[in-house]
Amino acid sequence: MRQLIAGNWKMNGRLADVAGYAQAVRAATLHTRLLICPPFTLIDRFATALAGSGITVGGQDCHANPHGAHTGDISASALAEAGASYVIVGHSERRLDHGETNAIVAGKAVAATAAGLTPIVCVGETEEQRDAGEAENVVRQQLAHSLPAGFAGVVAYEPVWAIGTGRTPTEDDVAAMHAAIRAALVEKLGETGKGLLILYGGSVKPSNAASLLALPEVGGALVGGASLKAEDLLAIAGAA
Ligand code: 13P
Repeated sequence: MRQLIAGNWKMNGRLADVAGYAQAVRAATLHTRLLICPPFTLIDRFATALAGSGITVGGQDCHANPHGAHTGDISASALAEAGASYVIVGHSERRLDHGETNAIVAGKAVAATAAGLTPIVCVGETEEQRDAGEAENVVRQQLAHSLPAGFAGVVAYEPVWAIGTGRTPTEDDVAAMHAAIRAALVEKLGETGKGLLILYGGSVKPSNAASLLALPEVGGALVGGASLKAEDLLAIAGAA
C-alpha cells in the first residue's frame, strides 16, 4: 500500500489560503497518498478545489453521536457531506484540551466509520511516561481502549513530547514502537491488523522525513506545522 502523508492544519489557515495550496498540491507528481485536514470551515472549499485529483480531505475531530444537542461539535456525517473522507480522532491536543478519554475516542471512531469516513486514531506517550519506561505500555493501553472492535482505520503514533517541539524519537525508538503497535493490532484485530497503516507524527519535516518514512512499519506521516506550506508537505511526500 502506498504511504499516506497527512497534513493536520490544526487551528490554522484561512479561506484565502485554499486556492493556492490546492493548486500547488494538484500540480505535484505524487508517489504517496496525500490528505489535508484543515479546520472544519475549509473542508468544503478544499474538497471542491481538489475534486478529481485523488488528494483527499479530512476533519480533525467529530462527535460520537450522529446529531443532537452538542453545541460546537460536528458530526461525522456532516464532515462526509462537506467532502471529507477521513477524520482524525483522539489527537493528544483533544485528549488534553478537551478531556477526551479512550472510550470517547473509540466512540468517535465508530461514528466515523458509520458515516463512511476512515478514522485516524492517535496515540502517544508524554515525556514523563517515556522517561519512566512506560511508553509502550501507555500506547498499548490506548490502543486496547481507543480502537473499537472491528476497527479498520489508520493509527497515528504521535509522542506528545515530539509535537511542535522539533524533537523526534530516535529511529530505533520509532521502529520499536511501530513494531509494538503492529503486534497489538494483530492481537486485537487478527488478519485485519496486519494491513492497517501506522503513521508517525511529531516534528516531521522535509529534513527528517526520508529517514522516518523508511523505517519498518511506518506507513506514512501525520504532519502538523510543516503541512501549512504546500511545498513542505510535498517535500515530505517526495521523501517517502
Ligand atoms: P507537528 O508536526 O507540528 O509536530 O505536529 C504533529 C501533529 O500533532 C500532527 O497531528
